[in-house]
Amino acid sequence: MDAFENFLQKIAALDEKDRAATLIEQNKCCICGRCPTYNECMREQDELIYCIIGRSPMCSFEKKGCICPTCPVKEAIGLRKAYHCVRGSETEQRSALPVQKPS
Ligand code: SF4
Ligand code: SF4
Repeated sequence: MDAFENFLQKIAALDEKDRAATLIEQNKCCICGRCPTYNECMREQDELIYCIIGRSPMCSFEKKGCICPTCPVKEAIGLRKAYHCVRGSETEQRSALPVQKPS
């Protein structure tokens, strides 16, 4: 089991209040607001921690780079993926099936 799977297991064992407190902690550390892809729509919706909650539900945007690899949350919870606002949460990206090449 890797660090992210440990994080998921820990979160699942918490009660609702402690789970919310943990997410607020990660929210405070999220650096999406400094990313060139982060736009006004995302800011207005106060969207953060896409790595945990999944892609942006409301906003459309251009990919201009992703700074997830430099985020402290990456180390803290063991992320391996990036561009979570576009591609989905860490869980979603890890469970996505590989694209089949046509034969
Ligand atoms: S890894 Fe990316 S989406 Fe997750 S908290 Fe950091 S900047 Fe935000
Ligand atoms: S998930 Fe990555 S690309 Fe999207 S806003 Fe956050 S840092 Fe930028």
